[in-house]
Amino acid sequence: MTKSPSILVIEDESAIADTILYALATDGMAVEHCALGGAALERLRAQAPDLVILDVGLPDINGFEVCRTLRTFSDVPVIFLTARNEEIDRIVGLEIGADDYVVKPFSPRELAARVRVILRRTGMRAAQATPAQEAAPPDGFTLDADGARLGWRGQWLDLTRYEYRLLALLLQHPGRIYSRAQLMDLVWHDAVDTIDRTVDTHIKTVRAKLRALDAECDPIRTHRGMGYSLAR
Ligand code: CA
Repeated sequence: MTKSPSILVIEDESAIADTILYALATDGMAVEHCALGGAALERLRAQAPDLVILDVGLPDINGFEVCRTLRTFSDVPVIFLTARNEEIDRIVGLEIGADDYVVKPFSPRELAARVRVILRRTGMRAAQATPAQEAAPPDGFTLDADGARLGWRGQWLDLTRYEYRLLALLLQHPGRIYSRAQLMDLVWHDAVDTIDRTVDTHIKTVRAKLRALDAECDPIRTHRGMGYSLAR
């Protein structure tokens, strides 16, 4: 397992902060909290986390100022929390270096999903569904976890995001059978609409891509009524 992504939450309302901290921690992230902008900047100067969640309406320094100061010494991704439409205009319109924003009231799951999207974009990965990098991939496979690439029989596979995550997960534990429900949770945790068939469809396309490089070998096993595994 790789290191958990570290998130600093800067929010003065403790009920909101608690909800966020809980949602992100449940998602496998290492979370810290500051209630004031000044303290947060000190914390950020000492050590930058992987991502910052920043409330616009803070009692000491407003979130825009915090972000502007932060940008003088760090390019850590920032997601703004905002309560008002006028603030959105400023976040989007002025180039204060925000990566995304969420409008209150928001669902913690939605916020967690946005955090994951940005972490993926910036190269960090949430602990969940992260390919193990210590173990060597099974025979015939090459795993470049940093570049989110998988090779098979000496060639890189041209995989979509979910195909990559699906195959990378199966590669982690050759022989382990994953049910459709487990695959949905681990691979499609950030997807909005998914149906059981999504798993089968992706297994099919991944198989076709593997077969294109080696027609003789199908390393993915179907276990009727149970799920899928990678051949040991
Ligand atoms: Ca506030």
